[in-house]
Amino acid sequence: MSHLALCGGKPVMETFDLPEEMFRWPIIDGESENAVLDILRTNRISGNDVTVRFEKEFAAWNGTKHAVCAGNGTMALEAAMFAVGLRAGDEIICPTKTYWASCLSAQKLGAAVVFANVDPDTVCLDPNDLERCLSPWTKAIMAVHYWAHPCDMDAVCAFAKKHGLKLIEDVSHAQGGHYKGRKLGTFGDVAAMSLMSQKSFAAGELGILVTDDGEAYERALAYLHYERNNEQNIHIPDLLPYINMPLGAMKGRANQMCAALAIEQLRHYDARTAEIRRALNYFWDGLDGLPGLHSLRVDESDGSDMAGWYVPHFIYRPEEVGGVGFHTFCDAVSAEIGWKIPTGGNFPLHTHPIFQTWDPMGLGKPARIAFAHRDVRELDKALAPSEGLLCAEVPYFRKFIPEEIDKVAAGFRKVVEHIGELSAFTDDRDARKDGQWYGKVNKDD
Ligand SMILES: *Cc1c(COP(=O)(O)O)cnc(C)c1O
Repeated sequence: MSHLALCGGKPVMETFDLPEEMFRWPIIDGESENAVLDILRTNRISGNDVTVRFEKEFAAWNGTKHAVCAGNGTMALEAAMFAVGLRAGDEIICPTKTYWASCLSAQKLGAAVVFANVDPDTVCLDPNDLERCLSPWTKAIMAVHYWAHPCDMDAVCAFAKKHGLKLIEDVSHAQGGHYKGRKLGTFGDVAAMSLMSQKSFAAGELGILVTDDGEAYERALAYLHYERNNEQNIHIPDLLPYINMPLGAMKGRANQMCAALAIEQLRHYDARTAEIRRALNYFWDGLDGLPGLHSLRVDESDGSDMAGWYVPHFIYRPEEVGGVGFHTFCDAVSAEIGWKIPTGGNFPLHTHPIFQTWDPMGLGKPARIAFAHRDVRELDKALAPSEGLLCAEVPYFRKFIPEEIDKVAAGFRKVVEHIGELSAFTDDRDARKDGQWYGKVNKDD
């Protein structure tokens, strides 16, 4: 007799009928609504006063001296690259498995992106791959705390220091998280992040850059803003002739409805993300130790944490369960809980033509290498370990309701405990085809 639903048995859950409030995000209460309405009613959408207030509050919360908002995380990251002095002919090392905004803007500055592998256990930048990426032209490293897992900052910071490189953190998945007791976004020369409505810190469309370095702060401010690029704010002699214009040739100013929402979200952020971590740690505490299935999380005993746990994932190890295929396993769990498990995450960026052939300015060379001293695309050949990783999502609980979480955990447990029933399935699907370039914000987009 078969037990598993995929083999004709009775599923653990007939339908995925957990309460909707367990997944609702962001949490918009009356105070958030009023904060946004107040901006609308007083016609201050295009101002800076509320944005500057948010910058001050965010900088204090993050433990950094300065903060600058931008209209989105992409612009904040581009400003971060300019802030550390990235320019034509430089190279920047970035993990290949991340969202495009971690590095695509480097091409606008004339810099070449050198992609590094990710560590298959953390899906974050593999510090052991940095040496391979290094050259006399390396200027900076982009450390991404991917899926909220803190990047190995001991190793990355040591490498950056040893070679005199600038370090930027992309904290878009991990606002407020910690690595060994220290807040993410305080390790790099500059850190930047998205606060768009899908992220853990969700404030509409907004980005922010934080730094302790006064010069980097002024460069970022002058890059993103025109009216704030003025004599009061800017003291760097080289920049002074260019006040009143945005050095990045963009209008980076934030929409103050988003800044007002961000102020409200910040007040509740630590408590709400603590509940997410409680829920997901509870889920994994009940499953860890089972063969094949490995949670992507940190051991909190050293002061590290998973912040708002942006998109919880597991890693699958078929060799521990008799070689049962990854997709067969995911199908079996999906059949037990009535929830189709998404697989793969972001496609590795080096596999997109925008990093191979795109020549927007007609320079006769791909933008990626237009000003480079070598064809860094050659280095992409070493990135196979970052392709086709066997990683998949689990439901993203935002509320700690143990009896509901138990139901989902029971579905995962059941599949592992009856894994033998799956040994007859052939699974020839290619995991390199799993994933997407970006997640959809609304179902109908
Ligand atoms: C979302 C995201 C960004 C870009 O932020 P936007 O606010 O969407 O422009 C950058 N890096 C990573 C890792 C992201 O997930």
